[in-house]
Amino acid sequence: MSTPTLTVDLNAIVANWRALDALSEGETGAAVKADAYGLGADRVARALARAGARTFFVAVAEEGVALREALGPGPAIYVLSGHMPGDGDMIGDLGLLPVINSLDQMIRHVEALPNRSFALQLDTGMNRLGMEPSEWSAIRDIALAQNPQLIMSHLACADERDHAMNPQQLNQFLDMTQGCDCPLSLANTGATLLDPAYHFDLTRPGIGLYGGLPFVEARPVVTLDIPVIQCRDVVPGETVGYGDGWVAKRPSRIATLSAGYADGIIRAMGPRAHVHAEDTALPVAGRISMDLIGVDVTDLGHDPKSVQLLGPHQSIDTLATAAGTIGYEILTSLGARYTRRYLGG
Ligand SMILES: *Cc1c(COP(=O)(O)O)cnc(C)c1O
Repeated sequence: MSTPTLTVDLNAIVANWRALDALSEGETGAAVKADAYGLGADRVARALARAGARTFFVAVAEEGVALREALGPGPAIYVLSGHMPGDGDMIGDLGLLPVINSLDQMIRHVEALPNRSFALQLDTGMNRLGMEPSEWSAIRDIALAQNPQLIMSHLACADERDHAMNPQQLNQFLDMTQGCDCPLSLANTGATLLDPAYHFDLTRPGIGLYGGLPFVEARPVVTLDIPVIQCRDVVPGETVGYGDGWVAKRPSRIATLSAGYADGIIRAMGPRAHVHAEDTALPVAGRISMDLIGVDVTDLGHDPKSVQLLGPHQSIDTLATAAGTIGYEILTSLGARYTRRYLGG
């Protein structure tokens, strides 16, 4: 078999959810949008539901449909994009809860599905989704009369502990929700770690569940093992890969791995990334190809059968730094070709 193996530790995801849950008095939900950040929303959400999670967040109604099929009728499934044209049947038939972002969406929702629950999103400064203070004050009374199940907002800089936007958005949220007696939610992973003042009734962690920063104490969740197809000797001056991207400075042993940028192994990480065989860090040699990667295994002293790109030696955030991106993008880029193995759950 030459496909890489992606191992997802569901027990670690559950442990991370419990650790974040222990930080707040209120309920802890789970952001499982984008297929649970690429790790498999059905498996992840079922494991979390068994551990006691009752509230899930997805980006679009189609994700909500698949999640409802995986979870059955009990849990709350919020759709962050709200109620878009064409979403009515999915929301209605599967009991999804749209997070209404504008007056337009509210009218669409109330007309299509009168008396069906929804949430409201307020924009407290991120300028991405939700009603701004002026729009909100104009329709607040009408909106509240519809009994929203949740009022929420989202922080722009929660992963930066001392950023001035955090207290600013918190104060704006407190202002805009003054006198509302429905449940409130503001915190993603970063905000859950900031301070209890950000927790309100429900937190919505995503990346922390999956082992990513800013949850420093998170248990690692993914390992990625890549088979070696072939090894060869090269003499000083010989090159490896497209564009002669790497030149041997010493007699070297090169292993060719069965994975590439088509598997989400971002080409830009090439010059700085390592893989590991046992405890030895091995540098990538040359450009990452679509389906293949060259690695300098000289220092290992033998030919490995497989190497590890993600695991105890290299986290999603370490790899993200090598690629000039963030752990979120490493996870959501993980390829469709991997053999996926789930531990626990
Ligand atoms: C993605 C998302 C979350 C989860 O954010 P993390 O930083 O991954 O914890 C929470 N709330 C909203 C609105 C989101 O879009």
